[in-house]
Amino acid sequence: MARYVFITGGVVSSLGKGLASAALGALLQARGFSVRLRKLDPYLNVDPGTMSPFEHGEVFVTDDGAETDLDLGHYERFTGVSARRTDSVSSGRIYSNVLEKERRGDYLGKTIQVIPHVTNEIKDFLRIGDDEVDFMLCEIGGTVGDIEGLPFFEAIRQFAQDRPRGQCIFMHLTLLPYVAASGELKTKPTQHSVKELRSIGIAPDVLLLRSEHPIPDREREKIALFCNVRKEAVIAAPDLKTIYDAPLVYHREGLDQAVLDAFGISPAPRPNLARWEDVMDRLTNAEGEVRVAIVGKYTQLEDAYKSIAEALTHGGMANRTRVKAEWIDAEIFEREDPGPWLEGFQAILVPGGFGERGTEGKIKAARYAREKKIPYLGICLGMQMAVIETARTLAHMDNAGSEEFDHETGSKRFTPVVYHLKEWVQGNHVVERKVGDAKGGTMRLGAYTANLLPGSRVAQIYGTTVIEERHRHRYEVDIKYRDRLEACGLTFSGMSPDGRLPEIVEIKDHPWFIGVQYHPELKSKPFAPHPLFADFVRAAVGVSRLV
Ligand code: GLN
Repeated sequence: MARYVFITGGVVSSLGKGLASAALGALLQARGFSVRLRKLDPYLNVDPGTMSPFEHGEVFVTDDGAETDLDLGHYERFTGVSARRTDSVSSGRIYSNVLEKERRGDYLGKTIQVIPHVTNEIKDFLRIGDDEVDFMLCEIGGTVGDIEGLPFFEAIRQFAQDRPRGQCIFMHLTLLPYVAASGELKTKPTQHSVKELRSIGIAPDVLLLRSEHPIPDREREKIALFCNVRKEAVIAAPDLKTIYDAPLVYHREGLDQAVLDAFGISPAPRPNLARWEDVMDRLTNAEGEVRVAIVGKYTQLEDAYKSIAEALTHGGMANRTRVKAEWIDAEIFEREDPGPWLEGFQAILVPGGFGERGTEGKIKAARYAREKKIPYLGICLGMQMAVIETARTLAHMDNAGSEEFDHETGSKRFTPVVYHLKEWVQGNHVVERKVGDAKGGTMRLGAYTANLLPGSRVAQIYGTTVIEERHRHRYEVDIKYRDRLEACGLTFSGMSPDGRLPEIVEIKDHPWFIGVQYHPELKSKPFAPHPLFADFVRAAVGVSRLV
């Protein structure tokens, strides 16, 4: 039976609860324990799959094909543990399960209530897989006091009560604001937040306090006294230069020790932090810098491409180089020549995306990269745009396009070199989709195997010819144009095992031009950079040496 750490937040949102949870996971691993991290989101969407990236940042896809919160990306990047569908849940999902059971008659005609039916559903979710790990870390989204969050708070209170004593602890993350006029860190908001938590029956065991300044001993004692938490369990979470410093800094502040003390685990196994020391060494002792242009649509919100930004950083770490990623709105290239914008970049990346808006600009970016021989990485939509570009420019299919664009407008303007796939093979079964299927359920999602062409650049980069990567898309490059495009120099170097779905295209006669139908960024870790990102950055460094 796992021990549970419930992580809640107070005072304000966006304090980095996901990161703190992930860092704690890494620290428990460093002490030899196995962990799994989970996210419980109070919003009413069934999953974040259909939310705009502007609303909620990136949608993180798991191997088993769930569309989840981007915090699961942090969890994976810090612990290396692959997240599952059962590691993310929202109020919407919980209520939808309860209502489904009610319709099926599972509740035998009883009146359905938040307590116990909704809370039981949450507790069932929490228990999944609890015999597999030493610690289960469960983060509750939002802040204490939010109306939507209440059933989750009630459920974790009950859960701790149901289990033998000492098996569950509560960690609360708050903010100590600094008031410049008096030169003081203020503890009152934290006191109120803990009071709110205690009013619903939860007494925190560990407090993690974000603050821009060191916390004086006097303040720490005051918080301990007023919040009924041991002084050693009042932990400072100072601002970090990079997120990857979190495990080492939080360890220094005593977070993992406080958590183990709260469980009464003594003596605590000694931590081995070598992995994180190496990560920080690579990050802080980088030589030189490369500039990578990311030509995309959701450029106003950095979180929309969170995993790509992180994977580029990891690629830099593999080469001991700093990567400066700069976002450029693809629509600009529909009005202006990309040349002046893209000059001075050592690499160009076109990320995933949905809808037609901005696609002509992305096609121009791909053309610029191909013709100017700048390293190009096209991810998902970025691969599709590269295929359309070569079809138009090299294969003279002037109106090559994607069926996605025509679906939006209901017109037939394009010859679809990228088309809507309605049936495919996953493992050894066939998956079918209809055009009219509900949004969110029509995509090829999760891990799929691809076979790489022996001797291709990607086979060299991966060091193998069989890979497994995560997908999230509706449309596929149409294999019927393969011969025509290959004759123009675009090699189909990665295919689905049945040979029907193009997974990777590359141009041999180019320093580095690769398009992938999947999302390699989702599997990159700071301590294990994804080979494609590592090699992409290596190629960019090569370009920077030439100029
Ligand atoms: N919109 C494209 C598709 O559905 C690409 C999706 C993506 O980039 N994730 O196929």
